[in-house]
Amino acid sequence: MIKAGFIGWRGMVGSILMERMLAEKDFKGFEPVFASTSQMGQKGPDVGIDIPPVKDAHDLDFLSQMDIIVTCQGSGYTKEVYPKLRNSGWKGYWIDASSALRMEDSSIIVLDPVNRKVIDQGLSSGIKDFIGGNCTVSLMLMAIGGLFEHQLIEWMTSMTYQAASGAGAKNMRELVAQMSSIGDSARELMGDPVSAITLVDRCVLETMQSDDFPTENFLAPVAGSLIPWIDSPMESGQTREEWKGFAETNKILQTEPPVPIDGICVRIGAMRCHSQAMTIKLKKDIALDDITGIIQNSNQWVKVVPNDREQTLKCLSPAAVTGTLTVPVGRIRKLNIGPRYLSLFTVGDQLLWGAAEPVRRIFNIIVDRLKG
Ligand code: NAP
Repeated sequence: MIKAGFIGWRGMVGSILMERMLAEKDFKGFEPVFASTSQMGQKGPDVGIDIPPVKDAHDLDFLSQMDIIVTCQGSGYTKEVYPKLRNSGWKGYWIDASSALRMEDSSIIVLDPVNRKVIDQGLSSGIKDFIGGNCTVSLMLMAIGGLFEHQLIEWMTSMTYQAASGAGAKNMRELVAQMSSIGDSARELMGDPVSAITLVDRCVLETMQSDDFPTENFLAPVAGSLIPWIDSPMESGQTREEWKGFAETNKILQTEPPVPIDGICVRIGAMRCHSQAMTIKLKKDIALDDITGIIQNSNQWVKVVPNDREQTLKCLSPAAVTGTLTVPVGRIRKLNIGPRYLSLFTVGDQLLWGAAEPVRRIFNIIVDRLKG
């Protein structure tokens, strides 16, 4: 029986992974063992079958008995444990939601609806490390992978509107705390229908600028504001999040020569859906109907939203998409700059296609392969 070790199943990405695996009835055909850095000996998650008590996620003896290890624990854990395990001679499959091994030559970034061919070639050639991509990059490729597949993109920019969840559970809580703080401070003025809006506005601003406003995690207001900076600085002037757009996209697709991609990544007050506005320079002038056809037919989750107000408001927002695997793409039109300049907008749940779903799917691909 295939043995699969799960680490990081308690965290935000890990618990969404467990939810999805349960919903898809994935817990069959292998023996799951759960490990933790803090819950050893305790009861594991309810996955509908008997499982042993939680193991120590640092125990190399235990880890080396696994055929597959799935970790959503984070880069620190991977950097500490992975080299020791490989150096001990372990030859199993390592599936990871963290970025630690993403850019290694020995790994493949997984997004099988878009790069199944790259994954299959990697499996056949003996690759053993399969890593989930950056959430923004994965969501962008779920939306417009078809345009890449048809080699239509000369270059593109992605201007992002990224949710709090990308920064972790604490940031999601802090966003709600910021919203509450603003709501609480303005409650009395809002209760009076004739209060001047300038007073409400001043009250909101004073709250956001006060020392009590909760900004421990974001370091700035996001509710009622935004932060045009995500992750660490790079020498290029990009943030690391912006750098990933080019580096990871081209690694996922193994494009040669690489397609130039850049943009500005912005944190906004959404909970768990990232949105992106893209400008694409096409290699040739092709009709809008053909473009929408290519986008719509590239995978079963992408959904073209007609470029009208009613459908846009109904389908193309974090509020409409959260908790679903649908990746809507709308506002598709040619820019008045010229016929080869395309503009579109997309939204996706960053905890699903941006994190847990590609990991769940590569796990099943590998289990099926091992079962022969
Ligand atoms: P997280 O929620 O902070 O969970 C990580 C670990 O923290 C858990 O597995 C758990 O490990 C421990 N933990 C401590 N206290 C906990 C508590 N009260 N509840 C649950 N877990 C607790 O991390 P995450 O946001 O899921 O991210 C995991 C990895 O995925 C990171 O490398 C991240 O960069 C990557 N990733 C995240 C996203 C995202 O949107 N957040 C997207 C793609 C990739 P023990 O059981 O060992 O204590």
